[in-house]
Amino acid sequence: MQPKSNIVHLPVYKPGKSTDEVKKEFGLEKIIKLASNENPYGFSNNVKEALMTEFENTNIYPDGASTKLTEKLSEFYDVSPDQLIFGAGSDEVILMISRAYLVKGDETIMATPTFPQYKHNAEVEGAVCIEIPLKEGTHDLNEMLSRITENTKIIWVCCPNNPTGTINHHEEVKSFLAKVPSDVLVVFDEAYAEYNEQNEFPDSLLLLKQFKNFVVLRTFSKIYGLASLRIGYGIGHPDVIQTINQVREPFNTSRYAQTAALTAIEDQEFIKDCREKNKIGLSYLTNQFNRMGLSYYPAYGNFVMVDVKQSAEQVFQGLMQKGIIVRGGHQLGFPTSLRVTIGSQEQNEEFIEVLETVLKEII
Ligand SMILES: *Cc1c(COP(=O)(O)O)cnc(C)c1O
Repeated sequence: MQPKSNIVHLPVYKPGKSTDEVKKEFGLEKIIKLASNENPYGFSNNVKEALMTEFENTNIYPDGASTKLTEKLSEFYDVSPDQLIFGAGSDEVILMISRAYLVKGDETIMATPTFPQYKHNAEVEGAVCIEIPLKEGTHDLNEMLSRITENTKIIWVCCPNNPTGTINHHEEVKSFLAKVPSDVLVVFDEAYAEYNEQNEFPDSLLLLKQFKNFVVLRTFSKIYGLASLRIGYGIGHPDVIQTINQVREPFNTSRYAQTAALTAIEDQEFIKDCREKNKIGLSYLTNQFNRMGLSYYPAYGNFVMVDVKQSAEQVFQGLMQKGIIVRGGHQLGFPTSLRVTIGSQEQNEEFIEVLETVLKEII
């Protein structure tokens, strides 16, 4: 059997060690996982009850069009229902966009390092990835513009960027969009948008009104705390959403995911509370990093990229042996940095304490 030539080089996604594996390997009782930017406060209390009710309908296919959820979000964002598309996580929306727009030989522009799924899905379609190095941890939008050719189909912008946590500001994004040819799609991945505190984020909903070739991606996996249910969405011009819908599988999001999302969006108190706690956690961590003389990128999501000035791999291993799992920068293009999720206050304090011990042990 002969697989598609453009996929033979692709690695199978390797998740980090699970908490159970780490417990077993190092004989630990308790693990603090700050590796996947999950919500340390769980999810809205109302979700559990809604899921129990939905349980009764397990034998019935979900509504493939996510009608109720579409209505709810269209009110929430004041966009029309035909501007929304749902996927099994925003990961699947990235897949559908790639499937709908990219063929062999097309070019697609993205930052590096950034969220790996843009490149992965583009390569599955045989597209050529033009990767533009970050400038001080941030997307270099001017350089991205200068690399547009007549073969360019999609430009991916991750804001805040995973793994650095940095953003591009509204005016910068707006003037970028004004210069991108109208037949090039700009995908704006805002998986952490709800953590926005300072109103420094680009107003993507406003930009959607001005640019038809602009699609915003959001998810219920991060602040909403529904990562295991797999549901995310895209907001864009009806024509673009229609195109993406043409490649969508009929029942791509489950009843549980739709119900949980519908319930979760109604509990904005929970979201506000998580946002406030995250802000306190971020300032705790950055104060500690300052005290320890460690530098970090300005963080706008629920994670921070901190330069520990030692081999990331060694520090990562040292932390793991003591029960703390983070993402080592060695796997992300930052050999002396760690990407750490902002946890609960207790988790953050323990992380700092263990990090100090590990750093001393290495020296
Ligand atoms: C976590 C994340 C996503 C995907 O999340 P889903 O669980 O697939 O919705 C997308 N983009 C970025 C930048 C992320 O960090």
